[in-house]
Amino acid sequence: MRIGHWKCWWLVVLLLVVLAGCVKMEVQESTSAPGETMPSTESDSVTTPPAGKMYELELTMKGSEALVLEFGQEFRDSGAEAWGWDAASGSEKISVEVQITGTVDSQTLGCYTLTYSASYQGIEKSLQRTVTVVDTTAPVITLVPDPEGSYLLPGEVYQEAGFSATDACDGDLTDWVVVRSDGDRMVYQVADSSGNQTTVYRQLIVDDPIPPVLELDGELEIEIFVGGFWQEPGFSAADNVDGDLTGMVQVSGTVDPNTAGEYVLTYEVVDGFGNVATAQRRVCVKAATPPVVVEPNGKVIYLTFDDGPSEYTERLLKILAKYDVKATFFVINTDYMHLIDDIVAGGHSIALHTKSHRYQKIYASEEAFFEDLYALQDIVYDRSGVMTTLMRFPGGSSNRVSKKYCVGIMSRLIKSVQDRGFVFFDWNVDSDDAGSANTADAVFQNVKDGVKGKQYSVVLQHDTRKYSVEAVEKIILWGLENGYTFLPLDSSSPTCHHSWVAN
Ligand code: ZN
Repeated sequence: MRIGHWKCWWLVVLLLVVLAGCVKMEVQESTSAPGETMPSTESDSVTTPPAGKMYELELTMKGSEALVLEFGQEFRDSGAEAWGWDAASGSEKISVEVQITGTVDSQTLGCYTLTYSASYQGIEKSLQRTVTVVDTTAPVITLVPDPEGSYLLPGEVYQEAGFSATDACDGDLTDWVVVRSDGDRMVYQVADSSGNQTTVYRQLIVDDPIPPVLELDGELEIEIFVGGFWQEPGFSAADNVDGDLTGMVQVSGTVDPNTAGEYVLTYEVVDGFGNVATAQRRVCVKAATPPVVVEPNGKVIYLTFDDGPSEYTERLLKILAKYDVKATFFVINTDYMHLIDDIVAGGHSIALHTKSHRYQKIYASEEAFFEDLYALQDIVYDRSGVMTTLMRFPGGSSNRVSKKYCVGIMSRLIKSVQDRGFVFFDWNVDSDDAGSANTADAVFQNVKDGVKGKQYSVVLQHDTRKYSVEAVEKIILWGLENGYTFLPLDSSSPTCHHSWVAN
């Protein structure tokens, strides 16, 4: 590149020297003909003309005595003319032939001198014209186009598609082209030996057509049961330019693991050039299939005891054991949880009645209810190893008190506990031991009256009531005498759901 400039400058200097030479020659000539500022016409008398004669010769150059010609342009000499005559006789002028010496080569830069000479009757005259061949035409740079446009990935170095430079005077100047990068364009510059400079640009388009790669961890289709565990399995996004874009991934859609349905999660990430990558995941939250109820053969009494274990539960278990009667305990979290082991060991069914049994708390929301219910399920499981799904709502499914805390919650819970795989039981015989029946006889009487005429009875009692526990032996004896079988509840037992749900 530097060499190129040196070469050019050297040639320029050379040209200037030549031009200076031209001027000098002019000066010399004007010195030899003092008094003539423009030596385009010369007319002189010969020193020794024959007697009676006084010859004169006039030589006139047409056009400028100093011409500048562009390189390669055809030179047309406008020439000169000469006339001779006898001044003494006043004869007519006659045309005299003009000799031209010197040539102009417009294909070679430089200064040329043309000399016009004429001779008449011993008089000789000459004039000179200088023609300077110059180059004022800049070179031409031609860029080879990129086949698919001059696109660059961000940070990518442009791979030159090629170029050439030619100059009318210097010919091929490709090797002298200086190429540099200037932001989003390439700059090509070249100067010819006369210092004529050309600059062209190649506009580059920095573009990233490559979208990020969005990958989902886990399955694209996931099935869980209502109430089951849901957690986003994760995802990652990486981009060729922006790198890790995981933090930029937008997830639209949600999964409610507590409500059956098909959920679609859409993941989207956009890179800095607006390229979008999307992915989808389908999550099917399936409701549990309710077990088929099998009606028992013969006359059956299902004794059920709520709200224990209590200080009376141990006694109750002894009574039941005495007659080998199996019952069902809808337990809450009490100070007698150690009796859970005895209940299970006695072959009874263990069932859930919520951990706190506090209406205000459990019926505040579905979420609160399940939190309480699952907490008890865990306690029972940890103690007994039994993962029971049998349950009863505090107050039964038809309770009205829940309305005070959350309107409509019972209707929703009835569906959602079953969606989550729980089997809930109400009752069709109420001992009223939590109401007005506060003696063993009254409890016994209510149970007896309730059971009569039913093929199967789900009897509500509370083992937190001493008199209710005391009534059990009489109930068993009466039942056995009257052909009833006592069975514990299981998931296929009659549920005796109340039809008069009030909230
Ligand atoms: Zn209860």
